[in-house]
Amino acid sequence: MQIDIVTLFPEMFQGPFNESIVKRAQDKSLVQINLHNLRKWTNDKRGTVDDRPYGGGVGMVMMVEPIFEALQTLNPKFEFRNSKQIQNSNFQNSKTVLLSPRGKVWKQQLAQEYSKLDHLILICGHYEGVDERVRDFIDEEISIGDFVLTGGEIPAMVMVDSIIRLIPGVLEKPEAVQNESFSNYHPTTITHHLLEYPQYTHPEDFNGLKVPPILLSGNHAEIAKWREEKALEITKKNRPDLTPK
Ligand code: SAM
Repeated sequence: MQIDIVTLFPEMFQGPFNESIVKRAQDKSLVQINLHNLRKWTNDKRGTVDDRPYGGGVGMVMMVEPIFEALQTLNPKFEFRNSKQIQNSNFQNSKTVLLSPRGKVWKQQLAQEYSKLDHLILICGHYEGVDERVRDFIDEEISIGDFVLTGGEIPAMVMVDSIIRLIPGVLEKPEAVQNESFSNYHPTTITHHLLEYPQYTHPEDFNGLKVPPILLSGNHAEIAKWREEKALEITKKNRPDLTPK
């Protein structure tokens, strides 16, 4: 998968993208992440990307032209490009996303869908957001939750991290992603959306806090049943909206 991120702050990504699983996925060439400073698509010396909103109001709005130019360069399917380039594109399966609090809320199921893409372009907003006309050039608007952040960089990192760990070959044990919160499969409840069951490791007894005896029993069927019950209990308590009807 190729991921192109359009941002005013490419340096923000250096830490999160150069550690752990995201780094390993790049090292294994399972994903290629390109960071693009939006200012390279500006035409004036100052690299202006924002202006005052029509109709008045506080704050600045990101202008449509630099984002349009960026998408023309980065998206081989961009509607203003000629058909020859579209045919020669390596990306059959590509999406352009604007990060925005107004968007569809990001979920594990969406991360699973996006992990099958060949190409993803993420546009990070800043200031008071972007000129509304940018929405004419995107496939999807995504929010990472019902709160407002300073910019789209952290939401882009959240999306990229959650997608990359689902790309086949990235995690050494692929079954790890089948037993996590939001994708747990439990045969009797037949739901894939429970939160994860409790996990324990050594020591067996920590100041009187003991590991549940069932987990030491070696009875795999009973352990699976206990985990399913606990996953359901935790989901009912913490996320009643995810509890199976
Ligand atoms: N004025 C906008 C509003 O009320 O919806 C908020 C703009 S916010 C300060 C600046 C940028 O941060 C947005 O354009 C978007 O790219 C990003 N952003 C902020 N919160 C976000 C969220 N929950 N999910 C995705 N992106 C977000």
